[in-house]
Amino acid sequence: MGLSERARALVRPEVADLEPYDPGFVECRVNLSANESTWPRPPALERAVREALAATPLNRYPDPMANGLRDALAAWHGVDRSQVVVGNGGDELIFDLLLAFGGAGRTVLDMPPTFSVYDIYGRLVGSTVVAVPRDPETFEPAWDEVLAAARTADVAVLTTPNNPTGNTVAPDRVEALCEACPGVVLVDEAYGEFAPSMGSAAALLDRHPNLCVLHTLSKAFAMAGARVGYILASPELVDVFAAVRQPYTVNVLSQAAATAVVEGRDLALAAVADVVAERTRLTGGLRALGLRVWDSEANFVLVRVPDAHAVRQRLARDFSILVRDLSFAPGLRDCLRVTVGTPEEDDAVLDALRRILRPVP
Ligand code: PMP
Repeated sequence: MGLSERARALVRPEVADLEPYDPGFVECRVNLSANESTWPRPPALERAVREALAATPLNRYPDPMANGLRDALAAWHGVDRSQVVVGNGGDELIFDLLLAFGGAGRTVLDMPPTFSVYDIYGRLVGSTVVAVPRDPETFEPAWDEVLAAARTADVAVLTTPNNPTGNTVAPDRVEALCEACPGVVLVDEAYGEFAPSMGSAAALLDRHPNLCVLHTLSKAFAMAGARVGYILASPELVDVFAAVRQPYTVNVLSQAAATAVVEGRDLALAAVADVVAERTRLTGGLRALGLRVWDSEANFVLVRVPDAHAVRQRLARDFSILVRDLSFAPGLRDCLRVTVGTPEEDDAVLDALRRILRPVP
């Protein structure tokens, strides 16, 4: 962080070295940079959301535990309300988890390249973050090393499908991690709905009381702006979250909209199949341009281009298309992450890349 001397003298050392999270958003015609949904919500579901919002008064504090929403989530996942905690986006729950189970003198295990928030929040709360890099070609976690490191970890984080690489891990690996780690295992399934054959780690909750499974409404449910995520875990762990979380963190509008979406989930999930089909088309289109594209089970793809920084700049400047440049991250040289958009948006990206990479003489 570019801190002044005076600020540096005031701030905790762990904080002084943190970089602000700034993905470099600029206004663009086509924004495929943050793995949001750009697909229209089914009209019946959109109506239900709007009606729920209109019927929500703003003069009262929210239900602190969001019990109506917890009940809707519990009914969906076939668990008890005591096994569900909701937060202001998955990000907040990751922070709460690290605050409660990480912290000074404790160890957090993650597997980069992955979602950067685990490392940032882990350090912010004073934990030592042990990073076991994934295979540089396949991005499969280095299981021997992971399981060895897990034996002394207070928190282990596994993301499946992984952001930004898009690959999943087999359920037996998740189970091996839960067995090896004496601490809490966070399985981040933020993109799980886009990997229908993956099978959720939530099926392991009965056997592994140290497991937390994170989901979000930001991706498959097109609710990133409402900021609602949730964790499924044992009641003992949910009680810990209840103690550390800020009571009114999910506001009344978000609770109302999220409950309507969860109750109308069949409509929302039907649209996921379209995103999955479009992901296959986008992957094929990028490969047809001669680019290396990793198979993805999420709502984005990772693609290597000749010069990621320059290509991202040209996409934004000349075509008003925003994608994420990840080439700053170790193991992601010249990689861009492109959210699966609507067919029109994806055609715009493919056409722009064709022009950038193979300029007409
Ligand atoms: N986990 C992963 C892997 C993510 O990519 C994201 C969002 N980028 C989140 C969790 C958190 O999402 P949100 O805070 O919007 O729920």
